[in-house]
Amino acid sequence: MPGPRIAILGFSIECNRFAPPARRADFDGRCYLEGADILAEAAKPAPRAPAELSGFIDGMNATGDWTPLPVMIAAAEPNGPVNQDDFNAMMATWRAGLTALRGQVDGVYSIMHGAGLAEHDHDPEGTLQSLVREVLGDIPFVCSYDLHANVSGRMVATVDAFVGYRTNPHLDMHERGAECAQLLRRLLAGERFHRAHRRLPIVSPQTALLTAQGPYAEVIDLGQEMAAKDARIANVSVMAGFSYGDTPFNGLSVIVTATDPDAAEALAQTLAEAAWDRRARFVANLTSLDDAVRLAKESPVPLAFADVADNPGGGGRGNTMWILDAFHRAGVQDAIIGIIADAPLAAEAHALGVGAHFTARFNRAVAADDAFSKPFAAVAEIRALSDGKVTGRRGIFAGRTVLLGRTAWLQIGGIAVVVIEGRTQCADPVFLEHLGLDIGKARAVVVKSRGHFRGGFDEFFQHEQIVEVDCPGLTSPNLATFPWKHLPRPVLPMDPQARWP
Ligand SMILES: [Zn+2]
Repeated sequence: MPGPRIAILGFSIECNRFAPPARRADFDGRCYLEGADILAEAAKPAPRAPAELSGFIDGMNATGDWTPLPVMIAAAEPNGPVNQDDFNAMMATWRAGLTALRGQVDGVYSIMHGAGLAEHDHDPEGTLQSLVREVLGDIPFVCSYDLHANVSGRMVATVDAFVGYRTNPHLDMHERGAECAQLLRRLLAGERFHRAHRRLPIVSPQTALLTAQGPYAEVIDLGQEMAAKDARIANVSVMAGFSYGDTPFNGLSVIVTATDPDAAEALAQTLAEAAWDRRARFVANLTSLDDAVRLAKESPVPLAFADVADNPGGGGRGNTMWILDAFHRAGVQDAIIGIIADAPLAAEAHALGVGAHFTARFNRAVAADDAFSKPFAAVAEIRALSDGKVTGRRGIFAGRTVLLGRTAWLQIGGIAVVVIEGRTQCADPVFLEHLGLDIGKARAVVVKSRGHFRGGFDEFFQHEQIVEVDCPGLTSPNLATFPWKHLPRPVLPMDPQARWP
């Protein structure tokens, strides 16, 4: 075992400024682990922890001896800003854990998201990274980040190597964790890295940030091509950012980690210019609800309809009714809609049992100030029930245990509606399939997801079969409709007069 002693910690949540606060219970429901529990969870066949953890552990194991010193990892489904008291309690846990390791640790790895918020902190990742420096000083410190990170100067300044995801939908978490292990080994061997950071006044609609095609994909690919030709470059991260974080440091960012400061600066500048050259293409391309209804009824090929404005993976509540209501009224047949978060309705379905007919009342108990979660009622038959404990089959949740809570298949006319107790982005086909639904036989599949469903439902739907529907919601790509407070302005695409540098 011995080898270098590496502290492991993590804080992963994407926070939508306009959503209700996240609480400690939201972390408990996804992944809150302290000390030895972290390694025990990582050793399970389907861990609940972020996949970067297994990647990092595998990467360290593959490159020699080491001793993991697990501290605390907190991860949750995207939500509103973290309740400040709950975040402060987490900070106290990290502080105590790191302080106990002082003088006995050689390096640190932290799983970050990068688009976290606490109620009174625009930059909780920067706060946590600063704590690591304060307690442990200048020791090798590597962090991985979600591609939607809103990158603060403090995040870049307090880490040695900055490693962001390169795929959207996110499919490279394990790889990036392993890359962090490799870079940490280099730092432990005595190498020193420099980081260059550029931020552009581009706060793109989330739907224009795919990595299979489009302007963002081109910049990421260019960065990897150029890095492959220059041994001084250790990592290139092109971070899309998360508009709904509404922070003073929102904006598409390039971070280059390199052994040579000039090489880092030059490549960061080149990539920032490449992104700026493509600035006119970071725009949403949505389909109206009326057109979506028509397509659902008339399309000769099956279609996936993404309810991009109510994406739990961006803080949406996963319960808006615009598409269900419209499809139901129009008599759409052979459709599946999922997954809708409604705990009281899921509980009622479980109490009534399979085969029961009843009036399904959605959103019977939502907050008065919730502008989007409107009530809807329709006669339904309960076709299947489950406890909602599933193992991700494909895409961002692949190989991980996900707890959906009590789950029900409600048949409403020609539409199979999947209702869950928890609140989870519909990114994996297993969320529907585990109830017996056959996605391959559906003519229209509506997913509450902005884009991660593409990594799970690609078996059924090609890019051309995906319709991004324009409905109201907390994650609407129509950015001009939000009451921004902190976003740097002017910024593209909302402010055409934005300039850079
Ligand atoms: Zn992300």
